[in-house]
Amino acid sequence: MGASSSDNVPNATNGDAPVTSSALPVASGGNTSFWRKNLHELDDLRSTEILPETSDVVIVGGGYAGVATAYHLLELGSTASITLVEARGACSGATGRNGGHMRPDLYGHIPKYIKRFGLEIGSSLAEFEIAHVQAIKAVVEKEKIDCEFTLTRTTDVWCDQDAADRAKAVYEMMVGHGLKYMDDVHFTYGQKAAEGVSGIKNAKACTTYTAGTMFPYKFILHLVGLLHKRGLNIQTHTPVTSVTPNEDGSWTVSTPRGHIKAGKVVHATNAYTKALLPEYAKNIVPCKGICCHIAVPQGSTPPHVQNSFIIRESGNPSVLSYLVPRGDGGIVVGGASSIFRPHLEQWYDNIDDTVLIESAKDYYESFMQKNFRGWEDSGARVTDIWTGVMGYSWDSNPHVGHVPGKEGQLIISGFNGHGMPIIWLAAKGLAEMIVRGKGFEETGMPLLLKTTKERIERAQKGPEGGDILA
Ligand SMILES: Cc1cc2nc3c(=O)[nH]c(=O)nc-3n(C[C@H](O)[C@H](O)[C@H](O)COP(=O)(O)OP(=O)(O)OC[C@H]3O[C@@H](n4cnc5c(N)ncnc54)[C@H](O)[C@@H]3O)c2cc1C
Repeated sequence: MGASSSDNVPNATNGDAPVTSSALPVASGGNTSFWRKNLHELDDLRSTEILPETSDVVIVGGGYAGVATAYHLLELGSTASITLVEARGACSGATGRNGGHMRPDLYGHIPKYIKRFGLEIGSSLAEFEIAHVQAIKAVVEKEKIDCEFTLTRTTDVWCDQDAADRAKAVYEMMVGHGLKYMDDVHFTYGQKAAEGVSGIKNAKACTTYTAGTMFPYKFILHLVGLLHKRGLNIQTHTPVTSVTPNEDGSWTVSTPRGHIKAGKVVHATNAYTKALLPEYAKNIVPCKGICCHIAVPQGSTPPHVQNSFIIRESGNPSVLSYLVPRGDGGIVVGGASSIFRPHLEQWYDNIDDTVLIESAKDYYESFMQKNFRGWEDSGARVTDIWTGVMGYSWDSNPHVGHVPGKEGQLIISGFNGHGMPIIWLAAKGLAEMIVRGKGFEETGMPLLLKTTKERIERAQKGPEGGDILA
């Protein structure tokens, strides 16, 4: 769109009008994540003192999805004016509060998708996720990003015998399909061998395969710095309160600090999508998760944890945790959703990431002692614990592409607890749609990610498969 201001766009102001929508991010406070303990100097960045009156592209949301979309727009040579607007500090949402685990999910949803949609569609998602590990390694090296990126093996562990047997059947089914990427997966069955490979007590089976870990806040803030230097206008602490149509086909993006007339609007708002796009209210539901950092006292030297993990403990309920070891010996671990699942009010349709999940807040206190061989007397304890809000998708898949019925608006949201191995290349695909005018199908993104009227309406109609509470 052009650079001149329009009559129907009110002038930008720097007023501090209160934001009232209950679906917008709450004011930050308390409950700080380990990653955000030492804030980057650009956390509160505003590239210009006042908002631009016009911008060819406005990206709403300064997490992984918004920042990655902006990065790819510039990488593809976009000459458009681009403004990224974030309600709070940069990377203060789920990305700044997650587990830092970039693990393609070969055992959870891929077999389910192969069953539901066939081998080609299911395995295309697996390949897309796997491609992230190398794509992120490449950008970290290209842009020299200091974010503790580690190329690692993830160890999936099953401590319950029935679950181990089911995992073995899944492994054999996946190998039976002749999927090339299964060459990277090593499966170990039987307690003695699985405990030996994983170091986890009571392990009945485990797999290992390639994954990545990183310090997500450092990764995003480095990119924020690059984008700012390369001419992107970044405006933190600026909640978008509405996106309304103009007669000339553009959109007015309103904030308490003024308005921006935009040619295109990208919703990278994840858990908060429904505040600006109410048609997605049933499709992307804000759900809280819990994560913590564990450390041992000085002088304590438990066995070094080398790999990242998904640990499925036995018991009723059986608890799943993701775990990332840090170079300094610290551990980041979270999950435990089956512990807090019955307490809906503590996590479901809840955007308050300043309040811990009461029913799970003590769960990880002796997690290392309980599960890891040699950690019994380590003195390991939780040093930081926090929550974050995910955008749970009704049918389990993110929504990426053109917002149906709203020309010029695009979405990249709904990443559940699993955005790290999906967002980077989804953002690249979305950027290709914007810069090159490609159709979704031409971008190479898995079809399951495409947002459609049908998907939106299916969720609006009710629980017919894919119910997130099922
Ligand atoms: C506790 C926890 C642990 C997790 N662990 C992992 C993990 O180990 N591996 C993994 O793959 N995934 C994990 N996830 C999920 C992962 O963090 C998300 O999928 C991913 O970060 C989503 O990125 P995003 O940019 O879409 O969302 P966000 O990072 O939430 O970014 C959205 C941004 O939009 C802003 N925003 C929203 N509405 C507006 C508005 N109206 N105006 C302006 N700004 C707005 C928000 O403030 C926010 O900063 C975890 C999530 C949580 C909560």
